[in-house]
Amino acid sequence: MPVSVLELFSIGLGPSSSHTVGPMRAARRFVNELKLEGVLKEVGKIRVELFGSLAMTGKGHATDIAILLGLEGCLPERVNPDEVAPRVALIRSSQLLHLDQSCDVPFVEGEDLLFHKGKRLPFHSNAMKFSAWNRKGQLLESRILYSVGGGFILDQEEVEGEELMPHQGVQFPYPFKNYSELAHHCEREGLSIDQVVLANERALRPEAETRAGILRIWEVMCSCAARGCAQEGYLPGGLNVKRRAPGLFQRLTASEKAHGGLADPSEIFDWVSLIALAVNEENAAGGKVVTAPTNGAAGVIPSILHYYQKFTPHPTEEGIIRFFLTATAIGILYKEGASLSAAEMGCQGEVGVACSMAAGGLVIALGGSNEEAENAAEIAMEHNLGLTCDPVGGLVQIPCIERNTMGAVKAINAARLAMGGGGESRISLDQVIAAMRETGHNMNSIYKETSEGGLALQVAVNQPEC
Ligand code: SF4
Repeated sequence: MPVSVLELFSIGLGPSSSHTVGPMRAARRFVNELKLEGVLKEVGKIRVELFGSLAMTGKGHATDIAILLGLEGCLPERVNPDEVAPRVALIRSSQLLHLDQSCDVPFVEGEDLLFHKGKRLPFHSNAMKFSAWNRKGQLLESRILYSVGGGFILDQEEVEGEELMPHQGVQFPYPFKNYSELAHHCEREGLSIDQVVLANERALRPEAETRAGILRIWEVMCSCAARGCAQEGYLPGGLNVKRRAPGLFQRLTASEKAHGGLADPSEIFDWVSLIALAVNEENAAGGKVVTAPTNGAAGVIPSILHYYQKFTPHPTEEGIIRFFLTATAIGILYKEGASLSAAEMGCQGEVGVACSMAAGGLVIALGGSNEEAENAAEIAMEHNLGLTCDPVGGLVQIPCIERNTMGAVKAINAARLAMGGGGESRISLDQVIAAMRETGHNMNSIYKETSEGGLALQVAVNQPEC
């Protein structure tokens, strides 16, 4: 099992898991290595170079801010979003980095943080090169790190090694890399998908900790949605995108009060869209979100869980936990069989995967079978195949925010179709993941988080350069 539920769903800052969360972790990891080697205090100069998609859309995705904070020792899960702007303003005005909160190093952003637009390193589009010199100008350390989607990072040695999986050496009772292997464990042991994942999680920590961790993640998702429903105004970045969640929230709650419930059944769509809008508007504003499995797609799963709580007959806390564990199994299958990175797969790898995870999770939360969950996940991805990533102005706003509403609605439909059909299907989940991988590999790079094609090309935006 390559990742745990508490890694796939991680708490971080918006707007992007691959362009904000991953680079912040990478920068902190580089500084930690300097510390471990005992040379941190000798550093007189640091340079960070960004390649591929990070260079093309890094400004709009706040990669520059993430790198600065990571070099100062911040972690995405611990950063207070309200402290980000003043801290970055101080770095920029003083032209000093407070490395790992322990030593000051000059840092002139235009010279020391370079966006190599049009250059790509071989392994992955989201590449970063970190270099540090001492005060005599001698190179102390240089590292290439990759942000491979969902906030996960790899260094060159991990890329070149045979084994890319974390948790090496851990004996998982039910290892799996594709749905056939997962289904084999389920059938042989008479377990549901979530039970298999929970058994694997027990190899990492006591079950009570896993359950508490999942509920903590759910709590952060709820807070994020609540903040998004309350914050009025426009999103940063220059596109002048108005936050829609607060207005919709007020309209829906007023209607609910007036009618004692739904004014008409189709209002369910509005509630589902509301949570997706709220979460993704918070993400676009650089707020605290749960990567699920990426930040750009962070609204789909909270939206479906709110739907489960508000509109299905017998929602329970156990149902929420089962949802997360099942969604984790499905996320692992995509991470193993394709990728969660829009720079590799387009938006199939973000909203497409979130939709698939949510559909399967919803089936299990509703008491459906493994076969129905597999079928729901398969249907959800089948109708996201070919989904491109073309964010306007390099910002995670258009089409990203609305796209999460579409992913959420599609996930419910996929779950209902699967449960209505008893899980019978001509296409397996493994086959649709293989189709997604092939589609992603054949997709032109202008549709893979570079903002060089599609909607990004149609909408001219004056992006400030600093
Ligand atoms: S279009 Fe999709 S993949 Fe691309 S940045 Fe937006 S949400 Fe992420």
